[in-house]
Amino acid sequence: MGFIRLLYTSLFVLLATTLLSAQSTYWQQSVKYNMDVDFDVNKHQFTGDQTIIYTNNSPDTLTRIFYHLYFNAFQPNSMMDIRSRTIRDADSRVADRISGLKPNEIGYQEVESLTQDGTPAPYVVAGTILEVELPNAILPGASTELKMKFRGQVPLQIRRSGRDNREGISYSMAQWYPKLAEYDYQGWHANPYIAREFHGIWGDFDVNITIDKDYLVGGTGYLQNKEEIGGTYNDGKPGTATGKTRTYRFSAPMVHDFMWAADPDYKHTTLTRADGNVLHFYYQEGDATTTNWELLPGIMDKAFEFINANYGYYPYKKYSFIQGGDGGMEYPMGTLITGERSLNSLVGVSVHELMHSWYQMVLATNESLYAWMDEGFTSYASDEVMNYLRQEGLIQGDVVADPHLSDVTGFLNFVKSGMEEPLSIHADHFSTNAAYGVGSYVKGSLFLYQLQYILGQETFKSGLLRYFNTWKFKHPNPNDVIRVMEKESGLELDWFKEYFVYTTRLPDYGIEGVEEGEKKKTTVVQLKNSGTMPMPVDITVTMVNGDKEYYTIPLGIMRGAKQAEGGKTYQVAPDWPWTNPTYELTLDTAIKRISSIEIDDSRRMLDTDRSNNSWKADDK
Ligand SMILES: [Zn+2]
Repeated sequence: MGFIRLLYTSLFVLLATTLLSAQSTYWQQSVKYNMDVDFDVNKHQFTGDQTIIYTNNSPDTLTRIFYHLYFNAFQPNSMMDIRSRTIRDADSRVADRISGLKPNEIGYQEVESLTQDGTPAPYVVAGTILEVELPNAILPGASTELKMKFRGQVPLQIRRSGRDNREGISYSMAQWYPKLAEYDYQGWHANPYIAREFHGIWGDFDVNITIDKDYLVGGTGYLQNKEEIGGTYNDGKPGTATGKTRTYRFSAPMVHDFMWAADPDYKHTTLTRADGNVLHFYYQEGDATTTNWELLPGIMDKAFEFINANYGYYPYKKYSFIQGGDGGMEYPMGTLITGERSLNSLVGVSVHELMHSWYQMVLATNESLYAWMDEGFTSYASDEVMNYLRQEGLIQGDVVADPHLSDVTGFLNFVKSGMEEPLSIHADHFSTNAAYGVGSYVKGSLFLYQLQYILGQETFKSGLLRYFNTWKFKHPNPNDVIRVMEKESGLELDWFKEYFVYTTRLPDYGIEGVEEGEKKKTTVVQLKNSGTMPMPVDITVTMVNGDKEYYTIPLGIMRGAKQAEGGKTYQVAPDWPWTNPTYELTLDTAIKRISSIEIDDSRRMLDTDRSNNSWKADDK
């Protein structure tokens, strides 16, 4: 008995410990890249030597491994080409352009040799994915060395990376090297590249790029050999390197990708911020660029100040705004943006891509699965940054009280088109580019805006900061951001995540009637949810004398309520059970004292029909 009992007890303890650790132990793979790249600017080709130290921090034994070979997408009949030629609303930057690429215009990444710890590793190229059978399985906790020789050709620019973009920038080098696919708690993410979204392994990059001496190179990471390169990289002093080429040695600690760009005509300026963070700007001088690019550094200095204070402190000491690419795209410690823009447009794209340093480059969500967590959160914060810059008089435009309100109307209009799809769809698999775009950028931003409504402005704001500080340098998922918000507010919020992310349901609250209560000096407001999603309901009662009273009706499943925000105190009404279509709110005020009653006068809640949201005494 004693023995059996002991056995049971230890089994139980063992089981409990295992379960506990499976739920609470976060792990992520780690990687160290060392790359030497030799670039030929005449052929637009390069060769590379890559050494990767890969550490398997997962509890699983890995027998295979995958690399992304993104440049292979830029070949006629690739998945990206077919997708672009068959989707209903193709991106005009891609359209059918890949199908017309000539052999010297296509992109490719070719593997010349691959070894694991010195043993040749067999591999198969499947479009943009390299499938590798490992000679030696990687055990949990073990590290392995992967050595590769590769060569590549830079495609004529179609999307994001490539050569000779429409503004004449020679090389926009993103997704240019064989990049290990990420393995996490959801398994492998060896997604074929069809034009959007990335997910990478956290690690350190040392990248040495050898290129014609006339080209200036900027990119992710800190330049290690400023004296050799000289010029704008070393206070105008001539570089010590000689010969026809220059080797730029970059080191980037704790990032999950590496981008660079090169052009013989780059003008390169820097601004050192008060905290030592150095901002770099690279652009081709001209009528369409110079004036605005000279104003950009001062404006971005102010943007950094506001962003650091509100969304978490930028953890690197360098950021580069580089003219290149095909619009704007975010990378670790820098961005590639087109540069021939009005000042407002240049600042807009710069702020958006910079904001991605928080939502994607530091809070590295899997963009393929949760594009809305980086595009949406970035859009949310960018709207506030832009409003601040307008307020400071640094860019033109009207300062608005709430920069998120316009998203509500925009989104509800899109919903009417019938094209909306749930946020939970994999970014590559949305039926239309429009559904992906509105879902990721707008509904993703509204995800935060709805939380701001549910939690109240101050609690939400501190929650967003807590999210950054809890999850920086990791891969947060939707549950992680919701859990942080739950801890910050003390409210249960799983219902919100489930409705908002996995469905397209929305609430539609309305006032059905207002009448004198049975008890003297009370008023009863009859409310109804005609929609398909529950939400807590804020009610503003305006008295005849102009005074206002604020009520909030929490959902029972929130297990709590918003108490106050923005100087307002809410009277917390009894819970509204989500099963009940209707609800009666009793006000301790005689009806004759009331001038009007309105549901959510902040207009933040995504209510599909606001026509029935208010009642006026005159309407009786
Ligand atoms: Zn973005």
